[in-house]
Amino acid sequence: MPALPSPPARGAPDACPGAVHLHPAADGLLARIRCPGGLLTAVQLRLLAAVARDHGDGHLELTSRANVQVRAVAAADTGPLAARLRAAGLLPSTTHERVRNILGSALADIDTPAVWDVGAQVRALDAAICAEPDLARLSGRFLFAIDDGRGDTVAVRADVGLLPGPADEVTVLLAGADHGLRARPADAVRVAVAAARAFLDDPDAAAGSAWRLDDLTPAALDRVVFQAGTAPGVRRTARRWQPLTPAGGPVAPVGMRHRPDGDFALVVAVPLGRLTVDQVDLLTAASPQLRITPWRGVVLPRVTDPAGWADRLARAGLVTDPDSPWLGVTACAGLPGCARSRADVRADAAATHTGRPAPTGGVPAPGSRNRLPVHWIGCERGCGSPAGPVVRVTATGDGYQIDAPDRTSIRLPIGAALGAAVQTAREEP
Ligand code: SF4
Repeated sequence: MPALPSPPARGAPDACPGAVHLHPAADGLLARIRCPGGLLTAVQLRLLAAVARDHGDGHLELTSRANVQVRAVAAADTGPLAARLRAAGLLPSTTHERVRNILGSALADIDTPAVWDVGAQVRALDAAICAEPDLARLSGRFLFAIDDGRGDTVAVRADVGLLPGPADEVTVLLAGADHGLRARPADAVRVAVAAARAFLDDPDAAAGSAWRLDDLTPAALDRVVFQAGTAPGVRRTARRWQPLTPAGGPVAPVGMRHRPDGDFALVVAVPLGRLTVDQVDLLTAASPQLRITPWRGVVLPRVTDPAGWADRLARAGLVTDPDSPWLGVTACAGLPGCARSRADVRADAAATHTGRPAPTGGVPAPGSRNRLPVHWIGCERGCGSPAGPVVRVTATGDGYQIDAPDRTSIRLPIGAALGAAVQTAREEP
C-alpha cells in the first residue's frame, strides 16, 4: 500500500483542530473536543449533542482517537461553544486542550477482568499532562495509550503506551515498541509524562523537526529512550514484549457482552462515525456512562435490558448486529465538508456498503465479519485512517483507487462494480 503523505515539517504551526483553536473547513469551522480514554458521562455527551445542534450541523463526528468533532461552527459561536464545554468539564485546560490525546482500552473490565483501572489511569494521566506546562508544546498528533493488558491500544503505535502485565509491572512502550522500560503501576503516569518531556527536550524535537516519536531519527529515538529510562521509577530489562493480536479480529465486534460480574454491556457501532442528536438521546438514556471507541463506536458499560436497548438503538440507525455491512467501514469528511475532496465519499461509502444505488455503481455487499477495515478518503492525505492493516478507497476524480495491504492497487472508473472490488480487497490475504 502506498505510504500516506508526510505531515508538514514540525516547523509549521500545528494546525490540529481543538475546541479553542478551530480549523477552517469548507463547511465552516471544525471543533475537535478531546475525550481522554473516550470516557464521557451521559450528561457530557448530551451537552456535546446540544452544542452540535446549537452551534454546528447537528451531528457529532467520532474520530479514530475516540475524540468528538462538531462541524460547521460559525466564528461568532466559538466563544459560547468553549464556555459550554468548559462548564461541562470537557475543556479543563486552554493551554493543553489539543495535547490531551489519550486512548484507553474501550472494553476494559467488560469482557475480561481488569488488570488495572484503565479509567483511573486515563484520568490521572490527563491531569498530569495538564499540570505540566512544558507538555503544552507537544503537537496535537502526539498520542498516549493506556492499555488494559490485551494490547489493543498499544497496537496503534502510540508515542507513549502503558501496558500492564503480571507481577505489578507496566511495560512502557515508546513509538509502539518495547525498549525494555518498566515501571510499577503507581509510577506509570509519572513515567509517561517524563517520556513525553524527554521527547520535547531532545535537540531534534526542540529544533522543530518532529511531531511525534516516529518522526525522529533512530539516533534521536535512542536518546529519548535513554533519557526516559533515567526517570524516577523506571527500571530496565532485557526482556521484550511480544505484540499481541488484539481480541476480536480486525473489525471490532458489536452487540451484547456478559460482564465478569454478571451484568451486561452493549457495544454499538456508529455508521461512518456520525451521531445524530436523537441517537445521543437514546444512548444516554441507556447508560449513564459511555465510552467512545477508536473504531467509531460507543460502549455502554452497564446496561439493563441489553436486548431491548440493542433493538431500539438498531431501529434508530445504530449498529448492534455483528454481521452488519457497516462494520469496519469509515470515511473522511469528503465533500461538501472538505474542499480538498474529489468526491462525496460518505455518500459513496454508504451506497456501496449498504447496497443502495450509488453514483459509483455500488453493489449489494455481504457482512463485514472477519474482513479488513476499509477507509474511504477524498484525497491522499488520508485523514482519520484507522490504525493497523486497512483497505484504502481513495477518490480519483473519475472513480476510486482501492489499495489493500501488500497488494496491487486497482483503479475503477465511476460506474464499475466498486462494491464487489472493495469486498474482495477486504478479504485477508
Ligand atoms: S482525506 Fe483529504 S478529502 Fe478527506 S478530509 Fe482529509 S484532506 Fe479532506
